[in-house]
Amino acid sequence: MLADIVIEIPMDKTFEYRIPKDLEDKVKKFIRVKINFNNKIELGIVVNIKEEEGRDYLIKDILAIYDEQPLLTEKEYELAKWISKRYFSSIGESLFLFIPKGLKEVKSKLVQENLKPKIKESVLNDEQRKVFDILLNTYEKLKDKNFKNINNKFLLYGVTGSGKTEIYFQIIKKIVEDGKQIILLLPEIALTPQMINFFKERLGQEIGLIHSRISKSEKLSIFKKVKNQQINIIIGPRSALFSPVTNLGCIIIDEEHDDSYKSNQKPRYDARFVAIQRAIQYNALIIMGSATPSIESWYAAQKNEFVLLSLTQRYNKTPLPIVKLLNLTKTESYKDFYISKTLIDKIKEHLENKRQIIIFLNRRGFNSCIQCTNCGNTIYCDQCSIPMTYHKSINKLQCHYCGKENEIPYECPVCNQKTLRFLGSGTEKIEDILKEIFPNKKIERFDRDSVKVKDYDKILNSFKNQEIDILIGTQMITKGHHFPQVSLVCVINADILLNIPDFKANEKTFQILVQVSGRAGRDKQQGEVLIQTLRSDHYAIKCVENQDYIDFINRELEIRKQLGYPPFLRILRILVKGTSEESVSENIKKILFMIQKFIIDMNLKGKVIIIGPSKAPIEKIQKNFRYHIIIKSKSVDILIKLGSFLLISIENKYKNNLEMDIDPNSLL
Ligand SMILES: [Zn+2]
Ligand SMILES: [Zn+2]
Repeated sequence: MLADIVIEIPMDKTFEYRIPKDLEDKVKKFIRVKINFNNKIELGIVVNIKEEEGRDYLIKDILAIYDEQPLLTEKEYELAKWISKRYFSSIGESLFLFIPKGLKEVKSKLVQENLKPKIKESVLNDEQRKVFDILLNTYEKLKDKNFKNINNKFLLYGVTGSGKTEIYFQIIKKIVEDGKQIILLLPEIALTPQMINFFKERLGQEIGLIHSRISKSEKLSIFKKVKNQQINIIIGPRSALFSPVTNLGCIIIDEEHDDSYKSNQKPRYDARFVAIQRAIQYNALIIMGSATPSIESWYAAQKNEFVLLSLTQRYNKTPLPIVKLLNLTKTESYKDFYISKTLIDKIKEHLENKRQIIIFLNRRGFNSCIQCTNCGNTIYCDQCSIPMTYHKSINKLQCHYCGKENEIPYECPVCNQKTLRFLGSGTEKIEDILKEIFPNKKIERFDRDSVKVKDYDKILNSFKNQEIDILIGTQMITKGHHFPQVSLVCVINADILLNIPDFKANEKTFQILVQVSGRAGRDKQQGEVLIQTLRSDHYAIKCVENQDYIDFINRELEIRKQLGYPPFLRILRILVKGTSEESVSENIKKILFMIQKFIIDMNLKGKVIIIGPSKAPIEKIQKNFRYHIIIKSKSVDILIKLGSFLLISIENKYKNNLEMDIDPNSLL
C-alpha cells in the first residue's frame, strides 16, 4: 500500500511513500507520520491511501506514525485546499495550519478547577436584547432545514462600552447548551491573563484557551479535547480558527478591524474570510464585532452581504467620554514641544480627584530619530531603510524593524561634525518628563520594552488595583482592557499613524484613537480625552472628537472610491526582494512582462489596473531591497487567477524572494 503525504514545504504537491507491512493497520488518512524527505527527517500528513501498482521506481517507507486517530476531517482538508488556492500557498503550508505543533500530550491543569461560573449573567438592556434575539433567531433558523438562504454573517457595530461582550457570553452559553461548539477570536494582544481569567470565571466551563504563552503539548491536549467535544468553547487569536471542531455552531470575531487577523507570513490569509468559509461548512453563525468596523466589513454590510446590528449606547448609560483636540501649534507647551501645558493641568486635576490616567503614544523608545543639524543626515539602520530609535534604558539605538542595536555615533557619519541632535519623543521620554513634573506619583510604562523587564500581568493588575497613577503605553493598552477608575486619556501625538504613507493610515488612526478614547470613563463618571495633534482639521482626527464613526466611514469611503482603493477595488500586491538591487529590479520587470502577457491572453484589458513596478515605501528590510507591483481589480477572482498563473510561471528558485498578498493590510 502507498500513502500520499503532505509536507510543510512551499511545493504544492503530495509525495508517495510506502506503508510498511507492520504499519499497514495503523496508517490512516489524516494522521502524522515520520518520513525521510531529501535525507531529512520530516513530519508529514497522510491525505490518501492507495494500492501499489505499476511503479518501477524506488519508493521510500514511512518510518513511524505519531497518531493513532486521524487529526483532521475532510472538511478541514477542503478548507486547507481553499486557503492554498485563495492565498497562493502550497497545500502543505495551509494544511499545517490545522495541525498542532506538539507531539506528546500533557495532562491539562484545567480539569481540577472548580467549573462553576463565578460571575452572574447581567441583564441585557433593550438594545442588547434586540440584537441577541436576532442572533439567536438566526441560529435556530440555520439549524432548521426548512429555511434556506439564511444570511449567517453579522456585523455587530457597538460603541466602546456598549456591552458587546455580554452578548457574546449569552450567545456562547445558548449554543453550548445546545450541544454545539463555538470559536471566539480575539486579537493576541487582548489575550491577557486578566482577560483569560475573566472568561474562565464567567463561562464556568472548560475552555480551550489558545495563546502564545501556552506550550505545544498543552495545545495538543486542547486540540484532542476539542476534537472529542470535551471542550466546546475555544478562545484564541486567529490560529484558534483552525481548532478541530466537529460540531461548530458559531464563530465570533471580536475587534474584527484588528490587523492581527491577517497573517503576515505564508499563507497570508485573512481570518475573517477563512471564518466565513468555515461557517459555511457547518451552517454556523458568524458574528464580527467592533466599535470601529473595518471599511471592508462596513461596506459589505451596506451591500447586505453582512447583516448590520448596532449598539449605540454604553451599557451602563455612562455617556461617551468628552474628547478635546489640542492643536500643538496653538497651545503653549511644557519645555518640550510634545506636552502642552493644558495637558499637564488636566492631569493634575484628575490626579487631585484620585483618578487614574492613561497616556497613549504609539512610539516606544526615547527619541524617534537622530539627525545631524549640520548636513541634515538621519541615522538609519544599515539593514533597513528605517531611522533608528534611541532607547535610553539600554543607551543604544535600535531598529524597530529588524531589532538591530547600535552604539550612538559620536559624530555624524556623513559630515564628521559633532552636531547630532535627538528628535521626537517615545514612551520612555514621556515617562521621564512626567516623572519630573509629578515626582510623587507612581508612573509606569506599558510597551514591548517594559514588559520584557516587568511582568505583563503585574503591571496591568497593579494599575487595576490603583497602585499606579499614570500608565504610559503604546497600542498594547488600547485593546479590550477595562479599568473603571481611569477618567482621563491623553494622546501625545495623534499624527504618527496619520503620517505613514499607506492607504489605510486614516482608517487606522481613527480606529486606534477611538479605541484608546474608549478606555476613559467606563464606570459611572464621564471620562475625558485630550488629543494632541498638528492636524486638528483632518477628518480622521476631527471625527474622533465627535466620536462619529458613520461620518468618518462615509468620508473615507468617498476617498477610497475616488482613488480606487479597497473596498471598491481589490488589491493583489506582488513584492520581490533580494540583497542585490539590480537583480530585484530585473526580476520584477520580468514579472511585469508575465502579467501583461496574461492580461492580453485572457482578454482582461480594462479589468485590471497595474501600478509599478516601483520601490516599496520601505525600500529595504534586513538588507533586502524591495520592489513591488500593485494590481487592482473589481474582481477578486481575476486577481486570484492572475496570482495562480504567476505561481506556476515563475521559476522555483525565485519564489523564496517573492511575496504575493491578496487584500494586503498595508502597502509599505
Ligand atoms: Zn552631518
Ligand atoms: Zn533594521
